[in-house]
Amino acid sequence: MTRYIRAAIVLVYLATATACSSTQSVRYVTVDQIRASLPATPVIAGFDIDDTVLFSSPGFYYGMTNHDGPDGRNRYGSAPLSSPKFWNDMNGEFDNFSLPKASGSALVRMHTQRGDKVVFITARDSSKVSTVPKILMQSFNITRPDVVFTCNQPKAPSISAKQVTIYYGDADSDIEQAIKASARPVRVLRSPLSTNRTSYEKVGKLGEEVLINSEN
Ligand SMILES: [Mg+2]
Repeated sequence: MTRYIRAAIVLVYLATATACSSTQSVRYVTVDQIRASLPATPVIAGFDIDDTVLFSSPGFYYGMTNHDGPDGRNRYGSAPLSSPKFWNDMNGEFDNFSLPKASGSALVRMHTQRGDKVVFITARDSSKVSTVPKILMQSFNITRPDVVFTCNQPKAPSISAKQVTIYYGDADSDIEQAIKASARPVRVLRSPLSTNRTSYEKVGKLGEEVLINSEN
């Protein structure tokens, strides 16, 4: 019996030790630490948009949950994210209600102050109507922002093509695609109010740096 108790104690210890080491291995960084780590020469910084620089859940929430179509159904059909009309409204109108994240502003400001080029690479669908560049210009004080829409395709080819050396994103897929494109991945945390619950299981576990306190 004593042997079993001893074995149980060892197991509990091992489980605790593993849990602690996985917490400790998250590499939290501040904007100042990122700035200090960059080369003196200008770099190209890439940014995801949703939940990284913009809190855009209000538009997505409406798109996914409205009852404003015929017979109280969703006006964008059963798969809003595949609806060109949704993307026209999201990119063209709803972003007027997206909030710039303070952490995103601080990152973009740090890069523009250094003279770096800033590129936005989003998996959103493109649309005939788009106010996204205007919103980014106004929110982050950038003249003529470069915005790439990958239309739900992987971002690595665009990260490579734009010669991005450091890429910021909130999703696991952002980090994975940055790694694939040999860019330095930095995780920006999602707001707890974000309606996006996907691709967020591996925060800090992909070897990426995590921007501390970047939920807002
Ligand atoms: Mg995102």
